[in-house]
Amino acid sequence: MPATSGQTTDMTNHASDALTPTEIVTRLGERGLAASAQRVAVYGFISGMGEQHLTAEELHRALRESLPTLSRATVYNNLAALADAGLIEKLDLPEGARFGRVPEPHVNLVCRECGDVTDVLVGDEAVQRLLARAARVGQFDVSVASITLSGRCRDCVTHN
Ligand SMILES: [Zn+2]
Ligand SMILES: [Zn+2]
Repeated sequence: MPATSGQTTDMTNHASDALTPTEIVTRLGERGLAASAQRVAVYGFISGMGEQHLTAEELHRALRESLPTLSRATVYNNLAALADAGLIEKLDLPEGARFGRVPEPHVNLVCRECGDVTDVLVGDEAVQRLLARAARVGQFDVSVASITLSGRCRDCVTHN
């Protein structure tokens, strides 16, 4: 798994603990989503996976270790529902979608060499205003707001 250390660590602000099943059921209910066992498992896993941004395929593989009967279609459908409800982040990258645990507005630093994705919660009012203005101009109902910066992470820069 990608290293998440480095100079951005002090700018991130995660409560790194996974949500409890009770918290998960509450949040799903608030968004009008049924709390099926599979959905609780998918959301619970993502809420505890730190800064990783995994593909649906990777999530399916990881979840099957504890839920061997979980189908790929179920994982995909639940990821779509959770992302649509604004509970998780769906990050659309040229090589495919990845899912992250932070639904609040944030900046993704995507390394083009190693594929590492780091969340940076800037908490910057100028950024919040920019996102709000973009949504207003586009008359867009935003569920998850993130900005993506592509480039090379510190490790890759250091080793080249
Ligand atoms: Zn890198
Ligand atoms: Zn992210």
